[in-house]
Amino acid sequence: MNDCLFCKIAAGAIPSTKVYEDDKCLAFMDIGPVVQGHALVIPKEHFANLSEATDEVAAHLICIARKIAVAQTKALGAAGFNVITNQGAVAGQTVGHLHFHVIPQFEGNAHKWNWEARPYGDLSEAAALAEKIKSAL
Ligand code: AMP
Ligand code: ZN
Repeated sequence: MNDCLFCKIAAGAIPSTKVYEDDKCLAFMDIGPVVQGHALVIPKEHFANLSEATDEVAAHLICIARKIAVAQTKALGAAGFNVITNQGAVAGQTVGHLHFHVIPQFEGNAHKWNWEARPYGDLSEAAALAEKIKSAL
């Protein structure tokens, strides 16, 4: 077995508190939740991050993340949720196996993201960046 923490969890070599499993993916409780109920969804196959994954795996993980989020809403009384993946150390990725965080948000006990807007000086700057992104699609 490789030395990847989440591969070991997927293989059952390291224990986890599972909430969902199928042939392609596993969802389990995050050991360091930013909000109680925080879960992770991972592919069983190793992909370092979202960029490396196939479209099929990425799509399946999002479908399962949505199911978990809806279940958190119904069963835990969450008023909303965040579904995110962190890619690269610069984005806060600490485990090098693709995972989506599914984080329930409760009225009065929400995790506040440091979502600091940095507006463009001129909208032409956004248009220039959009052109660069489009050319790479
Ligand atoms: P990230 O920083 O986006 O790579 O997220 C990694 C997440 O994995 C963190 O939220 C950790 O709390 C979580 N984590 C690390 N080790 C374990 C583990 N053994 N079981 C469950 N969650 C874990
Ligand atoms: Zn892995």
